[in-house]
Amino acid sequence: MTTQIQICSEKISLRPNGTLTVPPRPVVLFIEGDGTGPDIWRATQPVLEAAVDKAYGGQRQIVWREILAGEKAFKLMGSYLPVETLSDLREYRVALKGPLTTPIGGGFRSLNVSLRQVLDLYACIRPVRYYPGVPSPLREPEKIDMVVFRENTEDVYAGLEWPAHSSEANKIIDFLNKELGCRLSPGTSIGIKPMTEQGSKRLIRMALKYAIDSGRASVTLMHKGNIMKYTEGAFQNWGYEVALEEFEDRVVSEAEVESRYYGQAPAGKVVLKDRLADNLFQQVLLRPSEYQVIATPNLNGDYISDALAAQVGGLGMAPGANIGDNCAIFEATHGSAPKYAGQDKVNPCSLILSGAMLLEYLGWREAAQLIHQALPRVIQAGKATYDLARQLPHVTEVSCSAFGQALVGQIIVSNER
Ligand code: NAD
Repeated sequence: MTTQIQICSEKISLRPNGTLTVPPRPVVLFIEGDGTGPDIWRATQPVLEAAVDKAYGGQRQIVWREILAGEKAFKLMGSYLPVETLSDLREYRVALKGPLTTPIGGGFRSLNVSLRQVLDLYACIRPVRYYPGVPSPLREPEKIDMVVFRENTEDVYAGLEWPAHSSEANKIIDFLNKELGCRLSPGTSIGIKPMTEQGSKRLIRMALKYAIDSGRASVTLMHKGNIMKYTEGAFQNWGYEVALEEFEDRVVSEAEVESRYYGQAPAGKVVLKDRLADNLFQQVLLRPSEYQVIATPNLNGDYISDALAAQVGGLGMAPGANIGDNCAIFEATHGSAPKYAGQDKVNPCSLILSGAMLLEYLGWREAAQLIHQALPRVIQAGKATYDLARQLPHVTEVSCSAFGQALVGQIIVSNER
């Protein structure tokens, strides 16, 4: 039996050195999300609570507080992203978020992108690892254990684009043709790809620190600098600069490993590599064990994280986090999958594993570990949601909520604490 201690819920705060102070009963915000968001949230909450309870015997507890965004916010408050939601996120710092729907080709701007930009959540972190029992198109999926650090605020996601024939696009075309000798046709649509030294370096710095702290062997800068020389090419150069300026004693370049260390990386050092984006897509399929951490600009990161997710079970298994210096929002990589909304059908693992990342971020590793251990056991015991079950002949398809309950059951009987 667990003893419940009575302590008031408290805010998570930030020390001057940037690390978190987490009270035993921290307030953690949640956004249910649109489409299938409420289904996966209902399955996720009991799993996270069971893991915390099992790990800390009632001495720690998450105090959930709902904030609104998306369709629910519009219905109840007349705004898709109310100011109250933003101020709560700034105040309470940590949130778990369901997916939010965005119209394509018009309508309002992506709420997900807005949240990342307004709160300066500059790193999108997506771990990709294989859980035994999960179907994969690869012969050796267990070789995949990577973490993608995707820059989250710049690049073609900055929202600087204008439709063909608009007065804004026409002005830019006119300027480029007259002042810079370009030859753009009238009626060209325009998008701008801004990338800064500061924005790139802080993302790469976070990836390098993560690799050093977690004992990962390498960080790879993924870019398309052969074509986009002053944006993606600069990203690569800034990556080597930050490594040299700030991590000289802990990081060694791949070229140095060859030229100075006879191809064998010195013990305790992280190897910094770079790969063109197209090449990396085939490398992660053919030589996955050579890649541990990938640092990359926004668009490449979006593509590679979904492609990697497919290698370890698909979007239903892909967690993520958007992290800045003051605030962190954990969310599934997938979208709101509206065609399955309200059917209690989709895989809740992406949000559950995002919740496990949240627990790790709070420093509650024991609770996160319980989830990582329970997940493959449930699948190997023959239960999975439709996306995995249809690929596994001996597995019974269960609903989203039933999968969550099976995980709770597995956590409760687990011997690990
Ligand atoms: P989606 O990720 O919602 O769904 C694509 C397909 O992936 C689904 O049809 C389904 O087959 C599968 N899938 C997704 N989630 C799954 C799960 N949990 N379990 C099993 N299978 C799952 O992508 P979409 O249809 O392109 O986008 C729908 C909406 O979501 C759009 O409005 C888009 O803008 C938005 N979106 C939001 C986020 C976010 O909130 N961070 C991310 C991506 C897309």
